[in-house]
Amino acid sequence: MSNLDSFLQRNKSFAAQQSAAGTLMPSLPSAMPDVKAFIIGCADMRVDPADVLGIKPGEAVVLRNIGGRITPVLLEEMGLLGRIGQVAGGIPGGGGEVHLIVLQHTDCGITRLTGDPDKLAHYFQVPEAQLKAKAVTDPRAAVAADVALLQTIPLLPGQWLLSGLVYDVATGLVEVVVPPAPIRAA
Ligand SMILES: [Zn+2]
Repeated sequence: MSNLDSFLQRNKSFAAQQSAAGTLMPSLPSAMPDVKAFIIGCADMRVDPADVLGIKPGEAVVLRNIGGRITPVLLEEMGLLGRIGQVAGGIPGGGGEVHLIVLQHTDCGITRLTGDPDKLAHYFQVPEAQLKAKAVTDPRAAVAADVALLQTIPLLPGQWLLSGLVYDVATGLVEVVVPPAPIRAA
């Protein structure tokens, strides 16, 4: 049996459970006020927010890339997600509290890319001379830098809460490095 066969079997169980529980969402929510959290995380298989934070289906929009970093590509995706919400008939998080969470982690694979500054600079779309500010070897400094960057992005609703977390792969615990606060002061 291939991995895919195993995954498809689990999918049948998932579909049966969700259907029985009435928790399937056959259409996109008309607005995204149901969305309580927006999580930016790393693609690393050890740090799936569904495991680490117990995120359940329908609870959060999750975007994952290398490092869980704020890059121009990620910001473009966030902009398009906002547009999808508008086209679907609402303002993302309209009225409700949305928590934007940046979730990075220790022992991240991105730290193995420090020997490829050209590739990292391209990833972040910054000159190589500015890579130091991205703090790729220090997840606490990196998550703080990315939270600070998000605070400068006008497309994000100022009232959303923003926080920065670092997951320790050795202990399984998440540390709140940047406590939740509105993205911009009212
Ligand atoms: Zn990682």
